[in-house]
Amino acid sequence: MFCVPNSPGDNAKNMKIILLLLSFAILPALAQSKPTADLIVTNAKIWTVDHKQPTAEAVAVMGDRILAVGSRADINALRGPNTNVIDANGKLLLPGFNDAHVHFVDGGMQLDAVQLNDATSAEEFARRIAEQVKKTPKGAWVLGGDWDETKWTAAKLPTKELIDPFTVDVPVLVSRYDGHMSLANSVALRMAGITAQTPDPPGGVIVRDAQGNPTGALKDAAIELMDKVVPPPSHDQRLKAARRALAYAASLGVTSVQHMNPDYADIAVYSELLRRGELTTRIYAAPLITEGVDDQVKIGITHAFGSSYLRIGAVKAYADGSLGSRTAYFFEPYSDQPENRGLLGAEMQPLALMRDRMLKADAAGIQVCTHAIGDQAISMVLDLYRNVVRTNRGAEHRFRIEHAQHMAEKDFDRFAQLDVIASVQPYHAIDDGRWAEARIGRDRASRTYAFRTFLNHGVHLAFGTDWDVAPLNPMLTVYAAVTRATLDGKNPNGWFPEQKLSVAEAVEAYTMGSAYAEFQEKEKGSITPRKLADMVILSDDIFSIEPARIRDVKVLRTFVGGKIVWDVEHNHSLQ
Ligand SMILES: [Zn+2]
Repeated sequence: MFCVPNSPGDNAKNMKIILLLLSFAILPALAQSKPTADLIVTNAKIWTVDHKQPTAEAVAVMGDRILAVGSRADINALRGPNTNVIDANGKLLLPGFNDAHVHFVDGGMQLDAVQLNDATSAEEFARRIAEQVKKTPKGAWVLGGDWDETKWTAAKLPTKELIDPFTVDVPVLVSRYDGHMSLANSVALRMAGITAQTPDPPGGVIVRDAQGNPTGALKDAAIELMDKVVPPPSHDQRLKAARRALAYAASLGVTSVQHMNPDYADIAVYSELLRRGELTTRIYAAPLITEGVDDQVKIGITHAFGSSYLRIGAVKAYADGSLGSRTAYFFEPYSDQPENRGLLGAEMQPLALMRDRMLKADAAGIQVCTHAIGDQAISMVLDLYRNVVRTNRGAEHRFRIEHAQHMAEKDFDRFAQLDVIASVQPYHAIDDGRWAEARIGRDRASRTYAFRTFLNHGVHLAFGTDWDVAPLNPMLTVYAAVTRATLDGKNPNGWFPEQKLSVAEAVEAYTMGSAYAEFQEKEKGSITPRKLADMVILSDDIFSIEPARIRDVKVLRTFVGGKIVWDVEHNHSLQ
């Protein structure tokens, strides 16, 4: 290595030179072999979600990974001349939140669309649509909305008559917040050719008045009758929506999302943003099984294929509808509609077809995530999963049931035995909890959003929001899981309080639980050396404040891969 003159009799001099070189070259090199951090966050109250070392004061980051976690003194030893040191002022630092169920591009679009969710009457609903019509360019549709008629003083399904008078030349298709119902105006119905003569499609209902004429309300598969006339969003519209969603997620401390049923065009947009280095939230995308399974099998990819920022290799299936639209599929009729047990999803008919799709996906190593809400739909999906497990032995399936809302008593054990992940959205519990009992009765409601019972049975929980069906803000989800206080204020001590979780359990489900649900528990989900440095600093310590205050807690800073993507002091997202 050293180029040292080697003339005879010069050994002593050579030795001196070697020593000199050693002291200049090797000793500093030895000193440098102790790594220095690019970033240190110190003076923090760290909850690591790593059972081996649950708490710490400081964390060091090198590149995009966590280098070390420990006391202030331990971590300070990793400080170098170029280390960016952030004093957290004693605030709580957690792993970044991983939302296991979102509709991310839709969410981004909804941020700019008509806001109907908090309308408190049919008149307000109509007035807001009228406002949007004024802003809508000629030929364009009024879409989105997220209305919820249960928040209206007279909780009645909206009809086209509410909006027809001021939408004579504007097509309108506004969706219910749960995505299982939409309201079309007369222009839109005409464009889609929906009349009194149009039969209900399998898995869907065209709501009709006493004379049999469509009222404009379309349930589940009937909404798809509009697909041929509603123009799909353009690439630029998707790009804009994705950027809006990324900035919004960063501001809320959401460092990973799992996008359920994206269009392929959404994934193309993510791919473009990845190339441009603009992804500030990590994305796992699960397109519809009816569209995605053959393509993904053909390419030969398996679950969690891709890079740390963008992964595919999962598919999303639908087994039924929603409780709010009375299309969730139950063993017994709805308590307030004795002739209605809900709707089995169109893709479950015939069942053998769904079984074939799931078998094909699982055999190829693609993860299957199935939406199931009613107890019978959940039971049927568990039957399907058991069938697939018996056929495809040996593989690690990590099947998921999305929502897993209303459980039959017998199915908690089966959930655990099949190691099916319950991918749940606690905010729905405090939202639907306002009226769920009237629809399904006390007994079934006692096994609804049964997070504690899942944990008691050893079921893996993953937390999410279903944004834009519910708010993306993780603090609302933690608040919901911990308090179960319904939005109407009628259950301040919790709706079925025995199902409440602790803050630690809620945080774990939202970090490690969601990471496990996407095969990434070795990469993220806790503040652990070598994991990705995805972290949030909160304004308040959610472990010690009154649970009722958790919903007001703000995110001060968000780090993704060691980079600050949100800083409340700048009040905008940073790239
Ligand atoms: Zn969803």
